[in-house]
Amino acid sequence: MIIHMKRGAVPQHEKAVLDRITSAGFRYEIIHGSTGIDVIGILGDLSGVEESFFSELEGVDKVIRISKSYKLVSRQYSAADRKIRVGTSEIGGRELVFMAGPCSLETEEQVSIIAAYVAKLGIKIMRGGAYKPRTSPYSFQGMGFKGLKLLAKVCKKYRLKIITEATGLHRHLDRNGKPEKKTVLENVIEYADIIQIGMRNMKSYGFLQELALLTKDSKKPILLKRGESSTLKDFLLAAEYIVAHGNPNVMLCLRGIRAFEEPEFQRYTADIGAITVLKKESNLPVIFDPSHSIGNRHYVKGVSLAAVAAGADGLLIETHNDPANALCDGDQSVTREELARIKDLAVKIRKTVNNN
Ligand code: PEP
Ligand code: MN
Repeated sequence: MIIHMKRGAVPQHEKAVLDRITSAGFRYEIIHGSTGIDVIGILGDLSGVEESFFSELEGVDKVIRISKSYKLVSRQYSAADRKIRVGTSEIGGRELVFMAGPCSLETEEQVSIIAAYVAKLGIKIMRGGAYKPRTSPYSFQGMGFKGLKLLAKVCKKYRLKIITEATGLHRHLDRNGKPEKKTVLENVIEYADIIQIGMRNMKSYGFLQELALLTKDSKKPILLKRGESSTLKDFLLAAEYIVAHGNPNVMLCLRGIRAFEEPEFQRYTADIGAITVLKKESNLPVIFDPSHSIGNRHYVKGVSLAAVAAGADGLLIETHNDPANALCDGDQSVTREELARIKDLAVKIRKTVNNN
């Protein structure tokens, strides 16, 4: 339920409304307008509560019942686009934001070469996994904390902001099975400018809550990926978990879903239509990951451009200096030249989208 306060409402009116909300056992979120409290969102199961329970109070203009369970991230609750600042980029505004880099951090040489060309192309955010969520326990699990430190060093040199994945609340084991000092989440929070939550963790609700609590004060931006078999409603509710627990700076990232396609043609099915749906339903920025969506370097350009035409606010692209020898996801990693071409074309499409 949403309560719109009257223009002339005074602090006592607002207090009476908030008291009624809390004494009935609900929580609330406030949106401040230029003259004080504008809108109050009531959180909780309000199915048994009549609108009049609040509308009878002085200073209340109207009470709107929102049927959507993902209230805080919905446009119905707050129509304005949520804009998220990362360095000099504003995600969710007019700018098309690019985040590019390898799937996995491998060596200092690899990270340095890629960072250099990413920066040269005018891209301001570098991706790179230090902790890799691998389906097989025998696949490369990532460089761990050493990778984070390396990424931080190189990105500092090239003035790039960092997006990297936090895979959980556990301590990462090195190759000899020795656990790191801090948890993966603690390490990533310290080093990342954007914390990526992968598709495997979209439904780890305890993890999402802990992530929100640990970033409640810093409001460090979070990129949440859609689970491979999750509905859009489940996806929005997962984002709602983070926002409801204190961090509003969430971006939604589509990365393809599991359909009946064979991996030899498409690793996942690019959910382009979901971009338009999410932009209408939610106020959060929508990022598209063409690399995992299609899983093949040759098709990354096509789906990237389609995603931008559909209204994506940014692209998260895997790129590698030597895709054939990449330790992870080489098949879907574009080269420097391909990345440059995608960027050029995508920016042109974005201009058209912005002007129409
Ligand atoms: C990744 O971005 O490297 C990754 C593992 O993504 P996803 O969670 O979409 O599989
Ligand atoms: Mn990958």
